[in-house]
Amino acid sequence: MILEHVSPLGGAAVDVHVAEGRIAALTPSTREGTPRLLLPGLVEGHCHLDKTLWGRPWWRNEVGPSLMDRINNEKATRRAIGMDAAREGRALCEAHLAAGTTRLRSHVDVDEESRLTHVEKLLALREEMASRIEIQLVAFPQSGILRTPGVEEWLDAALRLGCDAVGGLDPSLIDRDPVRHLDIVFKLAERHGKPVDIHLHEAGELGAFSMELIAERARALGMQGRVVISHGFALGDVTGARADALLAQLAEAGVALCTSVPPSRAVPPLKRARELGVTLFAGNDNIRDTWSPHNAPDMLARAAMVALKYELRRDEDVALALDAVTVLGAQACGFADYGLAVGARADLVMVEAESLAEAVVMRRAPKLVVSAGRVVARDGILAGG
Ligand SMILES: [Zn+2]
Repeated sequence: MILEHVSPLGGAAVDVHVAEGRIAALTPSTREGTPRLLLPGLVEGHCHLDKTLWGRPWWRNEVGPSLMDRINNEKATRRAIGMDAAREGRALCEAHLAAGTTRLRSHVDVDEESRLTHVEKLLALREEMASRIEIQLVAFPQSGILRTPGVEEWLDAALRLGCDAVGGLDPSLIDRDPVRHLDIVFKLAERHGKPVDIHLHEAGELGAFSMELIAERARALGMQGRVVISHGFALGDVTGARADALLAQLAEAGVALCTSVPPSRAVPPLKRARELGVTLFAGNDNIRDTWSPHNAPDMLARAAMVALKYELRRDEDVALALDAVTVLGAQACGFADYGLAVGARADLVMVEAESLAEAVVMRRAPKLVVSAGRVVARDGILAGG
């Protein structure tokens, strides 16, 4: 396969030669005229394939306002309407693919209700879809670890079965014992040689304290580059000097941040994180589920949300939002062979736009999506789907 006359990330026009699923060569284009913009496959850094209602009829949300309301409602709704993590997860992955996402990290609930059932279904889905989309699964203790006997053992089993990373959740607010919670998460990571991705919604100084405990453990275990804090709202709450000090600790410990840029919360500072050497990437988090009806499997739309949240206006700034759903997500999640270079996996997204900023702002469906060297979608429609 040859993609002729394309502009990789807005650069000089080239022809992209693809062989055996990889980029075999990039040669200067000999054609005249404006080339089509080419992006690497987009990266969904944080979603929940086992929570989504994607592909189902509209579900009416009448859930109470507290965190426990949402957790308990989800358990009841899953039973009541017969949700299927594999079926809805597949629908969401396919919608993501059609919009140019070729790598995706999903958290998977491991709690007293689901135990290993969602893990098993999504591991099977990961295999089934491996030729089209690379899925990473994070074993996620949605109801805490210490509050329910058995969760630590199920997390251990989930990693043994093949989950790619171990998750955690608000170690102070949920389990009310951050040291024990985090010690278990990092012990499991060390035992299985797997990375860590912790949901941290805790606000202000409480969240900052949890962050320091996470950075301490990442440093002590030499896990630089293998630990992610998802959300990290505390970094948006504390003062500039305190945020700088925290970012410096995260940089030294090699801990990355993932944000879903919720309109209602302060988020970690994007440009300051970059300046201080902390990788900050983006994900949707909830996509049309019992937690929230919002968001869409479309990483260009997510990049536009990043640009809006951080008030990025200049073209070069809007392009930073694109980094958060491409190269930075791939780096922080450890997706291998990524990018528009010779030898990388041929994950290619051709977009009708003159510039990176236009691609982000217009969020048009890609003209063409290639995953591992094969065409998987055209004009937002899945090939053969
Ligand atoms: Zn999440």
